[in-house]
Amino acid sequence: MTDLYGQYCKIKTEVDAAMQCVVDQADFVNGNAVGTFAEALARYTGSGHVIPCANGTDALRIALMALDLQPGDEVVTVPFTFVSTLEVIALLGLKPVLVDVTADTFVMDPDQLESAITPKTKAILPVHLFGQCADMERIMSIARAHNLYVVEDACQALGAAVTFSDGTVHQAGTMGHVGCTSFFPTKNLGCFGDGGAVFTNSEELAATVRSIANHGMSRKYYYDHIGLNSRLDTLQAAVLNVKLPHLNDYIRARQRAARLYDEALADCSDIITPAKVSYSTHTYHQYTVRVTKVQRDSLRARLSDAGVPTMIYYPCPLHLQKAYQYLDYKQGDFPVSEMLSQQVLSLPMHTELTSAQIQYITKQLKIF
Ligand SMILES: *Cc1c(COP(=O)(O)O)cnc(C)c1O
Repeated sequence: MTDLYGQYCKIKTEVDAAMQCVVDQADFVNGNAVGTFAEALARYTGSGHVIPCANGTDALRIALMALDLQPGDEVVTVPFTFVSTLEVIALLGLKPVLVDVTADTFVMDPDQLESAITPKTKAILPVHLFGQCADMERIMSIARAHNLYVVEDACQALGAAVTFSDGTVHQAGTMGHVGCTSFFPTKNLGCFGDGGAVFTNSEELAATVRSIANHGMSRKYYYDHIGLNSRLDTLQAAVLNVKLPHLNDYIRARQRAARLYDEALADCSDIITPAKVSYSTHTYHQYTVRVTKVQRDSLRARLSDAGVPTMIYYPCPLHLQKAYQYLDYKQGDFPVSEMLSQQVLSLPMHTELTSAQIQYITKQLKIF
């Protein structure tokens, strides 16, 4: 599914030197590399402020904490996502309210958003799933009309860009009031362990986020907020400083692989290749097809026998998970998410895929 070692080998000298430098200086916590990385990522994304933290889940949690919501306030998100998105809402005593995704894009259906908004709604949490952005222009305009915050889950979409109808271009994570990303090793920009970051253009929110990520501290040993210990390790920042200049090349490599998949699978009527929306670029964090006419799980087994790994992101939508039964949703409430969980199949997608590998993978798929 991934080839992290192959990617590392190409930048080994630089990465090893950067990590060794942190060790030699024993600069482990809040070290130099962390600040350098935050500035570089702010330049890359055009975000006013970038606050690194321990992981993408914490980024989402800190973002919501910074909005000073009250228990019972409602946050609207989707059931077809990684669990973190819902988990952080629940952990803070907020009420997750779900809206379905669209079948072709896998992201929040803006047509269903308005009807999920109640007087208790305080925020919308769209997910830029598989590397392509949700319809942020429409989501932002609905949020403005109802005076709601927007928190972007850009954990899978760092580097994706959205063009608004006025022609302005915005990076994933920088369009809402707050944006969140993850540097988990397999993400678009991955470190060698856990890492994350929060984006915001508001100076006030940035100060709150920075404080919450550091125990809610204002000045040393004085606390204005109930906070967390959520830092990006200096060693991880050192790795990220080497990798960030390669991010555009990494995205191009994923896009090239996606194009080769698209071409090879164009004549295969049993599967639907990923849709590309007009307003957002696609960074192909995953290349996820829908298997509509044959048994997906048999196809998966056949590919596995042929040495082709695949994954199902995600096999069970979150409203049907045991932990979230208390939300009182039931089977049938989000038919698109439920259908997708039966149809989706993610093929190997990473920066090191060769044409020959893609040819082999698609050939095996077509034999079935
Ligand atoms: C990876 C991911 C997260 C969480 O990031 P971690 O760094 O693993 O905590 C949150 N949301 C989505 C959509 C993700 O893919």
